[in-house]
Amino acid sequence: MHFSELGLSADILRAVTEQGYDTPTPIQAQAVPLVLAGRDLMAAAQTGTGKTAGFTLPILQRLAQDTHLSLKRFKPRALVLAPTRELAIQVQQSVFTYGKHVKLRTAAIYGGVAIGPQTKLLKAGVDIVVATPGRLLDHVSQRNIDLSGIEILVLDEADRMLDMGFIHDIRKILALLPKRKQSLLFSATFSDEIRALATGLLRDPVSVEVARRNAPAEAVAQCVYCVDRERKRDLLVRLITENRWHQVLVFTRTKHGADALAERLCKARISAAALHGNKSQGQRIRALDDFKKLKINVLVATDIAARGIDIDDLPHVVNYELPSVPEDYVHRIGRTGRAGASGEATSLVCIDEHKLLRDIERVLKHEIEKRVMPGFEPDPKIKAEPIQKPRSARMAQPARGAKPTIKAPAKPAGNRRPAAAGHHFGSRHR
Ligand code: AMP
Repeated sequence: MHFSELGLSADILRAVTEQGYDTPTPIQAQAVPLVLAGRDLMAAAQTGTGKTAGFTLPILQRLAQDTHLSLKRFKPRALVLAPTRELAIQVQQSVFTYGKHVKLRTAAIYGGVAIGPQTKLLKAGVDIVVATPGRLLDHVSQRNIDLSGIEILVLDEADRMLDMGFIHDIRKILALLPKRKQSLLFSATFSDEIRALATGLLRDPVSVEVARRNAPAEAVAQCVYCVDRERKRDLLVRLITENRWHQVLVFTRTKHGADALAERLCKARISAAALHGNKSQGQRIRALDDFKKLKINVLVATDIAARGIDIDDLPHVVNYELPSVPEDYVHRIGRTGRAGASGEATSLVCIDEHKLLRDIERVLKHEIEKRVMPGFEPDPKIKAEPIQKPRSARMAQPARGAKPTIKAPAKPAGNRRPAAAGHHFGSRHR
C-alpha cells in the first residue's frame, strides 16, 4: 500500500514524501482513513509502530479543511495529551514535520520550564495543543486556555498516563471539553482502568490493534552476560570500548544508579549522560539532543525517562539491571532494531536477577543466549541478595493479540469505576 491511497490531501502527502516515507505502517494504514472519516478510535499500539503519524496526519488534514474556523474562534481545536515532556515534544515535532504545508499553529505545553512563553503562545492563538496533563491544568486555572472548542482529542500512551497517576488530571480535563468531539485513545496495554476510561469517553469506537513494528525476536539480537553485581561497571566499560559502540542506551533501575553509572563511564573516558526525572527539563533536552547527534556515546536512563525516546537506528540497548516487570524488558529492547535496522540488546545479569531473567524468558517464550566475558566469570561463592522494587513497578497487562485486526465496535468492559491510581508522582511533570 502507498500513502497516496489513504485519502490524504496533497499538502499532507507532500510532507510525508519529503520525510522519505512511501509505505504506511500497519497502524497508519488502519487509523488514517478511520480518523479522516471522523470515527473514535481505541488503538493498541506502542512507540515504534508509527502511531504518532497515524493520528497526526489525519488530524492535520481535518483541521486544515476549514482553517477559517481556527482564525475566527481563537481557541485550540485539537488536544493531544501525553504522559511525558519528551513525548509531548516529539509529538509536536511530528505536527511541525507533517504540517509544514498547511497553515496551523501548534504549541507544546509541559512542565519543568517557565510558564510565560507558553502563556504567550496560547494567548496568540493555536490550533493544536500537545500537553502533559499537569501543566495544561495550570494554564486552565490561569485562564490562558479555553478548551471549549476542542474538536479532536488524543490520549497518547494512555496506560503510561494512568501509571503515572494522571487519572484525576485527565478526568478534570475531559470535563472541560465539549461533549461532541472525536476521541482517539492510544495505549500499549488495556487494563480495566483504561477500558473504564474508554467507556466514558469513546463513542462507538473502532478498535485497532497492531504488533510492534519489529517484534524483538525478529529484529534485535539479544544476549545476556552473566557477571557479578560489583563488576558490571567494569564489564560495561570493556564492552563499549572493545566493541567501539558509539550510541548506547543503558537502562538502570534507579535515578541514583543512572547518575553513578554515567559518572563512572565519564571517568573511563566514555562520554555519557544520565536521563531521569530529577534532571531539569533543560538538562534532559540537552542530554537527549547530544545523544541523538552522537556528541555523547552513552545515555543512562531509567524506564520512565526513556519512555517514548525515539531514535532511528539506535544500535545498542544495554540492560545494566533487568527491569522488575518483564514487559518493560520488551519496551526497552524495542528502542533498537526499529525500522528494519538491526539492533543489539545486551543484558548484564548478576545472581540477584536470575528469577527476573526467567520471568522475562517466559514472556519472550524463548531463552536468551548466555555469555561470560573471560576475566569476568561470576564468583560461585557470591549469594543472591533481594532486589528492591522501583516505585514505577506496575501491574499492567500486555496488549492482547499481535496480529493487525480491525474490529468494530469495541466493547469496553462494563461501567466499572476506575481504581485509584497507585503512587502519584505526576506533579513532577507540571
Ligand atoms: P512512533 O511509533 O510514532 O514513535 O514512530 C516511530 C518511528 O517510525 C519514528 O521515527 C517515525 O519517524 C518512523 N516512521 C513513522 N511512519 C513511518 C513510515 N510510514 N515509514 C517509515 N518510518 C516511519
